[in-house]
Amino acid sequence: MVRVRFAPSPTGNLHIGGGRTALFNWLYARAKGGKFVLRIEDTDVARSKKEYLDEILNSLSWLGLTWDELYYQSQRFEIYKEYAQKLLAQGLAYQEGPAIIFKVQPEKIRINDLIRQEPIEFDTALIKDQVLIKSDLSPTYNFACVIDDALMNITHIIRGDDHISNTPKQIVLYQALGFPIPEFAHLPLILGTEGGRLSKRTGATAISDYRAMGYLPQALVNYLLLLGWSPGENQELIAISEVIKKFDIKDANKTAATFDLEKLRWINAQYIKKAAPQELWEMLKPLCLEKGLQVNNFDSNYLLSIVKLFQERISTLADFPEYSDFFFIEEIVLTSEAKKRLDAKDYSREFKLLLERLDGLEHFDCLSIENSFRLLVSELNIKAGELVHPVRSALTGKTIGPGLFELMEVLGKKRIEARLTKYIKGGV
Ligand code: GLU
Repeated sequence: MVRVRFAPSPTGNLHIGGGRTALFNWLYARAKGGKFVLRIEDTDVARSKKEYLDEILNSLSWLGLTWDELYYQSQRFEIYKEYAQKLLAQGLAYQEGPAIIFKVQPEKIRINDLIRQEPIEFDTALIKDQVLIKSDLSPTYNFACVIDDALMNITHIIRGDDHISNTPKQIVLYQALGFPIPEFAHLPLILGTEGGRLSKRTGATAISDYRAMGYLPQALVNYLLLLGWSPGENQELIAISEVIKKFDIKDANKTAATFDLEKLRWINAQYIKKAAPQELWEMLKPLCLEKGLQVNNFDSNYLLSIVKLFQERISTLADFPEYSDFFFIEEIVLTSEAKKRLDAKDYSREFKLLLERLDGLEHFDCLSIENSFRLLVSELNIKAGELVHPVRSALTGKTIGPGLFELMEVLGKKRIEARLTKYIKGGV
């Protein structure tokens, strides 16, 4: 049975790179009917932090990467000690004070990587003797990793290219301990937008930050997938359930991927468009409340119409409270451009006439509003834009947004009256 593991160290948040490694392991397990083991590599007691552990576990759960088994290396020090003693007794390791060190014998090692076509060759003569147990009695990463991968019956080690130099160091330990050697698959690097390694500026942002910025987990998973695998035929949007049917680690890309925030935003926008408005609202509501919008004061029909109005126009959930705030506040604040539009001219006459027309409408729907609006501008012998822009500014405080007539239908006659009247000298 396929058994894979994701082995994060809780010395930092889960980033894009770690998220992709976790996803590829999880996918391989799910595609092959295997098990996905989560192993927390918290041997460095000083650098491991509870807050990072929580962030990693929450982010994995949020992405939907559920694990079948969970282990903590900090609870397994006795096991590592036992195996180090064994190597010591066999004369394969020696002691330097409390530290236990493995004697590396010169040999040529060949690793068949499942992703690269050619085997990777190493000469262990270039590797120094390996510390197994440090003088503070904690195990080193390479040692604890091998013991655990072997005892947890891990069949495939899927991890980033940055670990490739560790692989021969681990193989000599498998051999010395008489453990079967698993298969290896090294995922190519993810480069930052401007080439080079991912940095904070070029995309090395915590998964939890993407969550806070309003990315949907399905969209982020879809994007992480494209950073190392392709469904073919230039397809970019694919449901994870579809991927599970055809995923194989052998098909992972052989060349480095480049992190592209624009593409992630585009994918996110597609998932937002496809979402059911009610589900989308469940996700948007906390963001609105956080921004101080009193959304609980409105009925669900009103809220859902607003969601539908913006669903096609937002790239992240965080765009929503920013774009739609005028639906929830009475005293809207004008952007400087909106103010400029309204200050350009006295619109008393036009706004007054518009309100009269709207008042006479039998049905206050988008089409009726548009028809009466167009009739009015033609009677006034002005271009539609000459009235559209000031009306939009007065109603929304902004110069851009959804179609004016659509938003007027949702905003409703009462709010429109209140907002336009403010700009009618002497009132209506
Ligand atoms: N704890 C290591 C890391 O976070 C795990 C590497 C591995 O997958 O072997 O990089």
